[in-house]
Amino acid sequence: MQIGHKHRALQIKPEHYPIVGKHLLGAIKEVLGEGATDEVINAWAEAYDEIASVFIKVEENMYKEAMWSGFIPFKVVKKEITGSDIAAFTVQPEDNSFDVSRLALTAGQYITVKTDPEDSDHIALRHYSLCSVDTNEGIQFAVRRDNKNAHRGLVSNHLHDNVEVGDSLLLSAPAGDFELNKSLIEQNDIPLVLISAGVGVTPVLSMLEAQVRANPQRPIIWAYACQNQDYHAFSGRVDKLLQQAEKVQSHIFYFEEGQLLNEEWLKTLPNPADVYVCGSMAFMDSMIDGLMALEHSGDNIHYEPFGPKMSLSVG
Ligand SMILES: Cc1cc2nc3c(=O)[nH]c(=O)nc-3n(C[C@H](O)[C@H](O)[C@H](O)COP(=O)(O)OP(=O)(O)OC[C@H]3O[C@@H](n4cnc5c(N)ncnc54)[C@H](O)[C@@H]3O)c2cc1C
Repeated sequence: MQIGHKHRALQIKPEHYPIVGKHLLGAIKEVLGEGATDEVINAWAEAYDEIASVFIKVEENMYKEAMWSGFIPFKVVKKEITGSDIAAFTVQPEDNSFDVSRLALTAGQYITVKTDPEDSDHIALRHYSLCSVDTNEGIQFAVRRDNKNAHRGLVSNHLHDNVEVGDSLLLSAPAGDFELNKSLIEQNDIPLVLISAGVGVTPVLSMLEAQVRANPQRPIIWAYACQNQDYHAFSGRVDKLLQQAEKVQSHIFYFEEGQLLNEEWLKTLPNPADVYVCGSMAFMDSMIDGLMALEHSGDNIHYEPFGPKMSLSVG
């Protein structure tokens, strides 16, 4: 289902599967060399067709349920920097007849941006989580400059440096299955625990907003980690939302000051708790391992990696 959501968001269509299949088989032949007998290749072809038909079927429904079809143009109506390296964008459809204020967004989902950055000779698509479910001003998402040493992330730097208020962006409809457990939103026995680091705050911020709107009586534990105060994203907005909730704990960790959101801190959490985690792979790994070691049920631990999910596992 998670791959299906990504495919729908990227607009992978049934007609694309034979292209991937052809080149996958070509690659398998190249790697296996003489081992690639007709029997082996035919078996791989059959397996690929089977998997492709499962995806096509799952994705057919996702295309039907999408809030709009394909990539459509939006205009940037607001761009704000928060926490030093994060740009928060608000966008409105260019088609005036499309009223986004009527959309019921699901907290935790992501939109997908299709860009044509100056520094690249190809189109680039990237997912960005919704950082709000409020659509009165438009759809909101936030982007951190993703730079490692000398390597500058293509799309995040393009959005920071070249996309301003009034510019146009192509977006596909919200996707993803990182969302609040609906059966727990209205009850007050099992607290909501939102744990994030850096730009991982975006999907859990929309969850905080959704929870406070739906049921402010539910106990909420908010934990956020970042380098230092300058990198603390959305602090004002989070504080306002937390003030609207009745039972709140807020824990902020600036790791440059030696404040660590680690397994030790996880021991302070109630169990059972309904936990949502988002941050770097290493951060989520340590949070998930820590929660599992404390015997939190895997069913109560939800997480969203901003990359491939395979390296993380909740058993
Ligand atoms: C479901 C989901 C939700 C997401 N939500 C958000 C969100 O809300 N906000 C957000 O900011 N991001 C989010 N992301 C991540 C986002 O989609 C992009 O992956 C991110 O912006 C980086 O894209 P980029 O084009 O800037 O970097 P890319 O060009 O794709 O590079 C990725 C990383 O690799 C490094 N790199 C590039 N080339 C090299 C090289 N040759 N050697 C070594 N390192 C290199 C770059 O510095 C960068 O750190 C999300 C991802 C997913 C899957």
